[in-house]
Amino acid sequence: MSTPFTTNNAGIPVESDEHSLTVGANGPILLQDHYLIEKMAQFNRERVPERVVHAKGAGAYGFFEVTNDISQFTRADLFQPGKRTEMLARFSTVAGEQGSPDTWRDPRGFALKFYTEQGNYDLVGNNTPIFFVRDTIKFQDFIRSQKRRPDNGLRDNDMQWDFWTLSPESAHMVTWLMGDRGIPKTYRNMNGYGSHTYMWVNGAGMKFWIKYHFKTDQGIDFLTQEEGDELAGEDPDLHRRDLWQAIESGNAPSWTLYVQVMPFENAADYRFNPFDLTKVWPHGDYPLIEVGRMTLNRNPEDFFVHIEQAAFEPSNMVPGIGPSPDKMLLGRLFSYPDTHRYRIGPNYAQLPPNRPHVPVYSYAKEGPMRYEPNRVSAVYAPNSKGGPAAVPGTLGEIAGWEAAGEMVREAYTLHREDDDFGQPGTMIRHVLDDAARTRLVNNVSGHLKNGVTQPVLERAIQYWRNIDKETGDRIAAAVNSL
Ligand code: NDP
Repeated sequence: MSTPFTTNNAGIPVESDEHSLTVGANGPILLQDHYLIEKMAQFNRERVPERVVHAKGAGAYGFFEVTNDISQFTRADLFQPGKRTEMLARFSTVAGEQGSPDTWRDPRGFALKFYTEQGNYDLVGNNTPIFFVRDTIKFQDFIRSQKRRPDNGLRDNDMQWDFWTLSPESAHMVTWLMGDRGIPKTYRNMNGYGSHTYMWVNGAGMKFWIKYHFKTDQGIDFLTQEEGDELAGEDPDLHRRDLWQAIESGNAPSWTLYVQVMPFENAADYRFNPFDLTKVWPHGDYPLIEVGRMTLNRNPEDFFVHIEQAAFEPSNMVPGIGPSPDKMLLGRLFSYPDTHRYRIGPNYAQLPPNRPHVPVYSYAKEGPMRYEPNRVSAVYAPNSKGGPAAVPGTLGEIAGWEAAGEMVREAYTLHREDDDFGQPGTMIRHVLDDAARTRLVNNVSGHLKNGVTQPVLERAIQYWRNIDKETGDRIAAAVNSL
């Protein structure tokens, strides 16, 4: 193919990318050099704001195929037997900026968009089944404690541990983060979790609470702190590069999806609050049920268009799937579409990675950067002009629950075994082996020795002793403080 000639944005041929239009070779630049002005103006606007969290990421397209019949639990189209659905995935670090190293210790985002026949279904999870806080009103404070200080622009371990130790509900997630899975070897070598509890509704209107687990078919693998530190210098884009290269070479990564299913009525007296995002449901209580497999086999042809502009939102739930009373999830239902409107504009749903594969018959109209003509000529509803009409009841049972009570600002009511330290203690004592426990102690003490001051340090030691006495003592000895 012959090289195409350069044009400006209007498609008009361009004469030079080397010389501005001037009065004589040494003279002033002319305002009528509209191509030069377009170049400068466009360049000044090349960046959209980076995501406040999950700024650095990588992603790819693929498909999800159902391998088991779980229609008894949900009528969602994408989970019906034999179904295959196109999808997009984006993986990311959380606290770092666009240029930050992929191998910093951090949770990883695991955001999925399924282009189903009932519209887009977004499952916006992490590589962790849990999170640091359980009420969405704490999220902004938590994130600020992990990012940069306003005075000197530096990240600050003291600030991180100050927040964590004053928020003991973080203990499970901090244990997880400081363990081996806190630095995955690659994005391909980590699991993904929906993390929140969601609701599924089947064709007969029966409701279930569920948790999603995407297990990597490449096997879990991790980097030690030393390996991560070294690679941060050698190849800060390691994970983005690895995903792209694997797919480019035909080595399409895949994950097997399992769900835990809790009958609707079991939630009330389950031993843990099943909606608390800092808790897992032990596998022994609710075993994993296979659903299907997701495969990522197509790299984006343009990273900015398809990955930077990808907008995932937990509020995109299709019939047969709904939220739960998880206070973090309920906050995220608002904040994701809100951040997209700010970051990439109110018509972000029309952008290539976000537009549904089914026709949109919405009455939403106009606004900046709207480029797909409305399929609906009527501009209001109801109308008698042939516009689309919402039909109550066509989707069956609403995925919801009953709620009543006084308006309060209170923590969740406690279930029998609810506390902040039990599940992380179980992880340390029953899931990790000796070598993993030693790495955990080294990771924590290394972090604490790097700028954490009193009284935060003392609180941090107590925090670990609350999780597991022996681990706390070993950390104390390692930081040589108590
Ligand atoms: P199980 O023995 O059935 O499960 C333990 C799970 O721990 C494994 O299946 C694995 O999750 C995960 N795991 C293994 N190594 C690590 C690690 N280094 N860091 C984080 N997770 C790891 O026990 P339970 O289900 O009763 O859970 C026991 C504890 O395990 C929990 O308190 C929780 O801390 C942790 N855990 C539980 C999960 C769950 O959903 N039940 C999920 C992840 C952790 P996977 O199979 O997902 O790879």
